[in-house]
Amino acid sequence: MMRAGIGEDLHRVDDARPLVLGGVIIEEGPGLSGHSDADVLLHAITDAVLGAAALGDIGHYFPPNDPRYAHADSADFLRKALELARAGGWEVANIDATVKTERPKLAPYIAHIRERIAEIAALEPGQVSVKAKTAEGLDAVGRGEAMAAIAVVLLET
Ligand code: MG
Repeated sequence: MMRAGIGEDLHRVDDARPLVLGGVIIEEGPGLSGHSDADVLLHAITDAVLGAAALGDIGHYFPPNDPRYAHADSADFLRKALELARAGGWEVANIDATVKTERPKLAPYIAHIRERIAEIAALEPGQVSVKAKTAEGLDAVGRGEAMAAIAVVLLET
């Protein structure tokens, strides 16, 4: 059996915070605002895992108003979602994700991000695809006010 899941997320840019994407700290920033570490990419992937397994969404397990998750490491969110999916008999076939941001240019970081996500998710890097796009100067992402991510996960038994 197979199940596909989709996840998406958007966070406001906050220059005062560090940028964390796919569990990788990207020194050049800009950072993102959020209750946790604001890892927009891991949040989208986590929601895709939960969606594929029909287990609800990230806010159900990690409410953004819960002080326990202030500055939380979003890798823990993805690990928890995978633990729940695996407990239900599911295994990840692949993850495909896209980050939308005007800056920084993510090309130099993509390989490292893929490796880090694979490590967090106990997968092979070949099962994890991460792509980057700009918004062509349009909308909040295009104006540099936000970053967004979308992810698809395929689960199989
Ligand atoms: Mg989020």
